Amino acid sequence: MSGYVIGTDLGGTKILTALADINGTVLAELRQPTGAGEGPERVIERIVDSITALQHKCGVPPGALMAAAVVVPGPELDTGQGIVHFSNNLGWRNVELKKVLQNRLQVPVYIENDANAAALGEHIYGAGDGIQDMVYITVSTGIGGGIIINGRIYRGVSDGAGEIGHMTIMPDGPPCTCGNVGCLEALASGTAIARAALELIEEGGGEAVIKAAGGNINEVDARAVAAAALNGDAEAGVIINGAARALGIGIANIVNVINPPLIVLGGGVMESRELFWPVMERELQDRCFKVQLKNLKVVPAALSTRAGVLGAAALVLQNLEICS
Ligand SMILES: [Zn+2]
Repeated sequence: MSGYVIGTDLGGTKILTALADINGTVLAELRQPTGAGEGPERVIERIVDSITALQHKCGVPPGALMAAAVVVPGPELDTGQGIVHFSNNLGWRNVELKKVLQNRLQVPVYIENDANAAALGEHIYGAGDGIQDMVYITVSTGIGGGIIINGRIYRGVSDGAGEIGHMTIMPDGPPCTCGNVGCLEALASGTAIARAALELIEEGGGEAVIKAAGGNINEVDARAVAAAALNGDAEAGVIINGAARALGIGIANIVNVINPPLIVLGGGVMESRELFWPVMERELQDRCFKVQLKNLKVVPAALSTRAGVLGAAALVLQNLEICS
């Protein structure tokens, strides 16, 4: 059996597309700007152009393409119908992505949300290779997650599973983008860390953080807070410690519910590993049973920004029942 599949990661700023063979080997990748401001039709046209360009580059005849998957940032997708009900990153409402692309490409098209696809990418190609059950968490501007059970994305009854960033950690905590308060995302995301630092600065503190941001308050972000904390600044340390504790509590909750063998942590904020890991480990020790921790590994993600596109390729192969 021979043939080729396409995985596309459609982000707010870039479209990353990969062409793979049916063994899952990626033959070529192409990146281009999304141009979301030009509207869905132009963006979909660019996806088709990317796929055509990759087919030409690799000498794939039109009939040899078997299927494609497109990863879309949520929050409101219907993966079954392939409709993007709402995506703030793209500025889309009720776009029938699957239908339009299937008409253009004349092959089956699958739609998946970005965190689930990244989880599957890590499972098949990255840190979760060879492990059947795992939970993926990405900590960047927001906090996303994906649950892999028996090698497959666990979606829940209405595509809502894996919203790890919106588990409540602090019932009366800071407001979250979802409308609730005290969510993990409101306490430990890059945005939350930056907001805590700006509050500190408003109160007259945060000198080391401002310095780490090059002296410009507008440049204060989670990276600057982490840099100040790494330099031994106590105020920045308190902020990072609070975020790391919230993450540790969130992970402990997951471990208590699912008892997975593997948690994979990705996203820019997790790059400051030495700041976060020891605090998270302590929370796990305090809040989980020894038997759960005995077989648990918490590891950094392996794929960085390619997790989504590789997950999309893996999703196509799973849907075609070529790879498990
Ligand atoms: Zn929330």
